[in-house]
Amino acid sequence: MNIGIGDLTDFQQANVITCAAVYIDGQKLITGDIPNLDGMVNFGRVFPRVLLDNLVLEAARKQGVNVITRCKLEHYTVYDNHVAIDCKQEDKEQNFKVKLLVGADGSNSTVARIMNGKRPDPQHRIVAVRAYFENVNLVPNQAELFFTSKSFPGYYWFFPMGPTTANVGVGMSLENFPKTETNLKELLNDILENDPSLKANIGTGTMVGKVEGWPLSIYNPDATIVKDRLLLTGDAAGLINSINGEGIQYALQSGRWAAESIISCFAANDLSGSALKIFDQKVRREIGFDMSLSNLVLQVIRNRNLNPLWMKVLKIFIAQAKRDERYTTICGGILAGMVPTNKAVTVYFIRKSILQALTTAFYGEGGIFRFIKQFTVLGSIAVWQVLLQRKEYWKWFKGILKGAWLSLRLRNQ
Ligand SMILES: Cc1cc2nc3c(=O)[nH]c(=O)nc-3n(C[C@H](O)[C@H](O)[C@H](O)COP(=O)(O)OP(=O)(O)OC[C@H]3O[C@@H](n4cnc5c(N)ncnc54)[C@H](O)[C@@H]3O)c2cc1C
Repeated sequence: MNIGIGDLTDFQQANVITCAAVYIDGQKLITGDIPNLDGMVNFGRVFPRVLLDNLVLEAARKQGVNVITRCKLEHYTVYDNHVAIDCKQEDKEQNFKVKLLVGADGSNSTVARIMNGKRPDPQHRIVAVRAYFENVNLVPNQAELFFTSKSFPGYYWFFPMGPTTANVGVGMSLENFPKTETNLKELLNDILENDPSLKANIGTGTMVGKVEGWPLSIYNPDATIVKDRLLLTGDAAGLINSINGEGIQYALQSGRWAAESIISCFAANDLSGSALKIFDQKVRREIGFDMSLSNLVLQVIRNRNLNPLWMKVLKIFIAQAKRDERYTTICGGILAGMVPTNKAVTVYFIRKSILQALTTAFYGEGGIFRFIKQFTVLGSIAVWQVLLQRKEYWKWFKGILKGAWLSLRLRNQ
């Protein structure tokens, strides 16, 4: 998508990432290049959000957008032919009268909260925290992703931002069971102290500023994102992919779809909720199925009792990815947000995963007998847990059924 910032010097100077390494339980298992896919660049860029946001803002200004800064929307009221908005700019009240209000105000959107009369459901929230470090040891073009039972369902990352600076963070879903007791800032500190690979990366480096964190809203197909004279985009509409926590591309894409929908609604002189539904339908058609599949995966792995199993499953994916380029492209592409999640529900992907699981069971370390022993131990613990945590298991199972149903519904739209 061209948003007019690709040629700017600041953008060009942002650190380029061409490959990624994946660690499971402290062990580096694979390093692979960012996939080469038609119509996409095979690299990513890491730079501070404040800089990216500023570039986008300046690009909008150049297009003639009137930007009013330091102005916080506090309330609004929708009337038949306009929306009255109450804002606070520094300490002064500011009032605006507009034809249509677009809520692009992030995961804690005030526009969405007033529109829906409630805050987002914790079931549809993930949390992420990050810190910037300088004087660290790194491979400048290599992003590193870490999966451990401690941070699952979620992962932590080490993203080089320059020759000696990095963005280090961790993201996880909010509603897991058993409940996650540690808060994410503590978890990040724990990981920084105890993960040997991350510790080696940080070396004698120091944190710049403090650990910052935000809750993020993931996709909820039942949420309302348009109403009379109101429309939500980006995080405000919950357009975060729950598998990788990415939302920048969906914020940009939904901004474009919103603009196209609004132009046609203005042309028809109809800004009612039913006319603006074209935007809602576009979002569902383009990313609804995929986002729902990601939510389904998240619902399955919310069960932290099974974290040892999920770690084994990840190792199976990696073992297969190591010897099959097409499979690597799907796994790496999904993780990097370049390949839709639905590519993992094809006959090819499932067949390869099952075959690799069988190979691991029969020919893995210790052979089939060790596998049967581990399977029996894990299975017995799981049965015991089901008996002890019947309510939670039932809720988890119902969540999976609901997720599968929503995915099927959106697939057919
Ligand atoms: C730690 C962390 C790491 C992340 N890493 C990645 C990543 O690597 N890749 C990726 O794709 N995504 C990542 N994300 C997610 C990504 O940041 C969001 O999906 C993206 O920023 C969404 O853009 P947005 O414009 O919808 O919302 P935001 O970027 O949140 O922007 C909302 C804007 O609205 C303003 N605002 C809020 N309330 C009001 C109000 N009442 N009145 C006026 N203005 C208001 C805010 O100041 C802000 O400028 C990460 C998130 C976190 C927390």
